Order: sequence, then structure tokens, then C-alpha cells
Amino acid sequence: MTWRALTNRLLSSLFEPPCAACKTVLSHPLDGAVCETCWAAASAMATAARLTSGAYNERFGDERAVDWAAAIGEYEGSLREIIHALKYEGRRSIAPPLGALMRSAGADLLRGADVVVPVPLHPRRERSRGFNQADDLARALGVPVRPLLRRNRYTTSQIELPKDERHRNVHDAFALADKPSAFALGASADKKGLSPHVVVLVDDVSTTGATLDACASVLKAAGAKEVRALTAARVASARR
Ligand SMILES: [Zn+2]
Repeated sequence: MTWRALTNRLLSSLFEPPCAACKTVLSHPLDGAVCETCWAAASAMATAARLTSGAYNERFGDERAVDWAAAIGEYEGSLREIIHALKYEGRRSIAPPLGALMRSAGADLLRGADVVVPVPLHPRRERSRGFNQADDLARALGVPVRPLLRRNRYTTSQIELPKDERHRNVHDAFALADKPSAFALGASADKKGLSPHVVVLVDDVSTTGATLDACASVLKAAGAKEVRALTAARVASARR
């Protein structure tokens, strides 16, 4: 038995650390906070998402500012538990492997992207959580990360609101981050030296798409030509 296998066995039997998603005892705690079974389930969703890339668009359409959206899968089962552990239990070690699944599920959407922009938290919420999960996920996507947006208002979580109030809740909630230099992108900048052509918004969960749409409107008003959105999960019941 290798030293690592021995340590895994010892940690597992001494401390019985639970999987952050399904709570069964981890047999390989050195490999991360989530068990192999849970990652396998989420990974199967990522594969399915890659095969059906584009199907999620139906929810946007019409006059929406988001041109193309994708997610690993629905906000349910293992994926929901994994996101929950990242976001509410502060298990930041989950972000890199979860971001890798987003990169895989959203491979088509990420192609040709100039920058990824994490959906910002209100500074007060980010202080209380200690990090922005969207930032952590964005860093795993292999595209330059630019914090181009800031959140002006402390909004209620979209998940807790009735559907018809969600758009009102996020209206005017976002603006360009105040540093003009944040928007300069060197080689990929347009003639005015201002805006990236193709921007990918990143967040953990898309509920109605209202948050992403509000962010996309700000980016388009600032000159972004195309705004796409990649989330770890989407809420199925919010489908219109
Ligand atoms: Zn598990």
C-alpha cells in the first residue's frame, strides 16, 4: 500500500469525513471534499450538456441581452449538492473541479471568447461569504478573467423570489466596475480600445436568467458585441 493510500484509509476510518455533497464517508479524503460517485454524476451531466449544446437558449431569446447560454445541467441531485457545499459551506476547493466541468460542458460556448466576467456579489455579501464563487469558477475556464462589473444594490437572492419579481429585483443592480482600465483589453480591444467583442458571463446558478440578462445589458451598452453566459447549473422550474 502506498503512503497516500494508507493516509486516505487512516483519515477515512479515524475521522469519517463526509462527502460535502452526499454526506457518505469519503474513502479518499486526500482527493477532495466530494466523493467519486458525486463527481461521476455531475460529470455525466457535463457530457450530456456538451452533446446538447445550445438547447438552453430557448429560455433567453426575444429581446434578451444574453446571446447564448449553457450550463452543466439542472440545479438538482449531485450538482445541486456540490454547488451548495461550495457556496454555503465555503468549500472553495470544489471550485476548480466544478469549473473544469463547466469548461467541458461549455466548450462550444467558450470558443472565441475574449474574456470571462464573473457575476459580482454585492461587496457586503462577498465580505460575509469571504469569496465570490463565480470568481473561483471563472478562473477554471481557460479564458482571461476580467471583473468588469460591480453590483450596486444588495438584492435578495433570486431563488427566494416569485418569478415576476425577479427582473425588477435585478434591474439597475449592476454597473461597469469603476476602473476604466478594467475594460481595456489590449489585442482584443476594438478600434476605440474599449470593449471586448465576445464576453462570457459566469455564475454558479441561473434562475430565470434575469441576473445574467441585467449584466449582459450593461456590457452591451458599454460596447460588447456578443454576451454569452455559462453557469454551473440552471433552475429547471424557472423555464418559461
Ligand atoms: Zn458524494
